[in-house]
Amino acid sequence: MKALTFLARRFVAGDTVDQALKAVRALNADRIKATLDNLGEECQSRAQAQAARDEYLLMLRRIADAGADCNVSLKLTQLGLNIDASLAKDNLLAVLEEAAKHGNFVRIDMEGSPYTQKTLDLFYDVFSKHPNVGIVLQAYLKRSEADVAEAVKRGARVRLCKGAYKEPEDIAFPAKAQVNENYDKLARLLVKAPIPAFATHDDVRIAAAVRAADEAGLAKDAYEIQMLYGLRPRRWRELAAAGHTVRVYMPYGTHWFPYYYRRIRERKENLMFVLRNLFE
Ligand SMILES: Cc1cc2nc3c(=O)[nH]c(=O)nc-3n(C[C@H](O)[C@H](O)[C@H](O)COP(=O)(O)OP(=O)(O)OC[C@H]3O[C@@H](n4cnc5c(N)ncnc54)[C@H](O)[C@@H]3O)c2cc1C
Repeated sequence: MKALTFLARRFVAGDTVDQALKAVRALNADRIKATLDNLGEECQSRAQAQAARDEYLLMLRRIADAGADCNVSLKLTQLGLNIDASLAKDNLLAVLEEAAKHGNFVRIDMEGSPYTQKTLDLFYDVFSKHPNVGIVLQAYLKRSEADVAEAVKRGARVRLCKGAYKEPEDIAFPAKAQVNENYDKLARLLVKAPIPAFATHDDVRIAAAVRAADEAGLAKDAYEIQMLYGLRPRRWRELAAAGHTVRVYMPYGTHWFPYYYRRIRERKENLMFVLRNLFE
């Protein structure tokens, strides 16, 4: 277990919020922003969902105390969406209210397709009263073009990613080329929404999104390029040095396996890194 925890270190910024904040401060010193995520999903009980909420309340206070340039990302099944939507809503509202006290922002990550509509429903339910919340849409889902159009219409903040879950072909584009094409198309639509966030390590996608932002007349502080902690750190710095707003997604905590597994599955180099370390 210890060895595996060591391997997860590449992608996970520590076990505790204070360890993660140390890593955030180092990034902030290089003019890179962060979003902190307490690892967890598909909670097993109401008590676990409430404990996750409490961790986010603590996180928001610690970020404020540290004066860090950092918002938070969470998953609704961590707050109880898989048990009871009203439990997730109560927990989310508590987090949004704490964030508002500190002038901070909360991003709701997007999970697998059984939760897409439930996540959007809960997001729009709270968004009307809590503008400090944003959502994520996934380019691999065929429905996302309509979801982006809706977000633009309602003025919602969206992070665009390719999508990390295994989805059936009737609802998701099966080929990488189709996902990429859709990513670029959605990026062009999304520049009409406030502070669009382009989350990808793919330079071709980043170039297309930056082009779309330029054509829409967006200044470099009016959109974000986001990447995951542990992936392409040199590129974060290059983009920040070129004047881009870069935000790094920094997960911390002990419940790292599902997150880690998605990283390993989506890129063979991530698996090679693990194997090399196992045998060294
Ligand atoms: C900030 C952030 C938040 C996310 N939030 C969510 C979410 O809420 N829901 C969700 O489903 N998914 C989320 N994801 C994951 C996302 O959906 C993808 O699974 C993940 O980002 C991999 O896709 P990619 O766009 O990076 O490109 P890929 O298709 O994995 O890679 C494309 C190309 O990018 C380059 N590249 C990729 N990685 C590297 C590397 N390590 N080094 C060098 N080149 C590389 C290579 O040229 C590669 O061919 C998030 C991703 C990020 C960055």
